[in-house]
Amino acid sequence: MVCYDAGLHSKFARLNNFDLHNHTAASDGLLSSRALVELAVRNGCDGLALTDHDTVDGLREADAAAQALNLRFIHGVEISVSWSPSRDAKSTTLHIVGLGIDAENSVLAAGLVSIREGRIARARLMGKDFERIGVPGMFEAAYALAENKSMLGRTHFARALVNAGKVSEVGKAFNRYLTPGRPGYVPHQWAALDDALSWIRAAGGVSVLAHPGRYKLSKAEMTQLMGEFRDLGGSAIEVVTGSHSPPQFREYAARAREFGFLASRGADFHGFEESHYQPGRLPPLPDNLTPVWSVLF
Ligand code: AMP
Ligand code: MN
Ligand code: MN
Ligand code: MN
Repeated sequence: MVCYDAGLHSKFARLNNFDLHNHTAASDGLLSSRALVELAVRNGCDGLALTDHDTVDGLREADAAAQALNLRFIHGVEISVSWSPSRDAKSTTLHIVGLGIDAENSVLAAGLVSIREGRIARARLMGKDFERIGVPGMFEAAYALAENKSMLGRTHFARALVNAGKVSEVGKAFNRYLTPGRPGYVPHQWAALDDALSWIRAAGGVSVLAHPGRYKLSKAEMTQLMGEFRDLGGSAIEVVTGSHSPPQFREYAARAREFGFLASRGADFHGFEESHYQPGRLPPLPDNLTPVWSVLF
């Protein structure tokens, strides 16, 4: 056992530039699958996961590009979930990343279709809310920007607002619009946590709680969430992500050790102008964590 652990450790000490959270134009990223893979190779990644929101549509092309360039490639997805700490509490949107999934799995595919249908309905209501404040045509503009017509998200609206001259950049669109209490925000019921984890399990994947530092939860609520996530079969949390600050890298490293979670690392890259980190350019995982990629190969 000791020998086995030591072997694992040395193997992954040499291969540690894994980036396991990235987007393409199949969801709300800006690059093609091929361009994302080429960027990861240029940046010296040892392995890359594509984790588009609620779709696996980009995986085939990315896998082919990764094989051609000899890059280890992990099939992933980022599933939108609504979770609340109690029956009468307000629900929070969470993102659960599935890694090492079989993209052909019918249980997962059906779950993702149901979420994407909800997205279209939400987008129409968002368009109506923009009309209400005197900004017409936003549904159509966002729809036109979505390369994958079945995967429409707030980011497409944010880019449409930039193009319409309403704001100067995507980040400002989320400050002024599209977030709770602001115009263009429409509350939405996403998948249940247990459903998302069961779809990932059906597809043979590992479940990762994405960017926990981004959720507006108290410390006690975060403890509850992590306990439920672990009890439902969740195995890992993101520690080093483009959505965390360096103090949060340390905070969630401690949470991973506390709960016995594997640790993940990923840029959450969407595009050059929109993202803080490029794939493979994040700091390494803190010490004394088991990387989630140790169970993916
Ligand atoms: P949706 O799943 O359609 O509600 O959109 C969520 C996506 O919006 C996230 O994955 C991010 O890509 C983007 N997003 C959310 N908040 C912000 C923000 N403050 N700045 C930039 N992008 C954001
Ligand atoms: Mn996104
Ligand atoms: Mn996310
Ligand atoms: Mn993401």
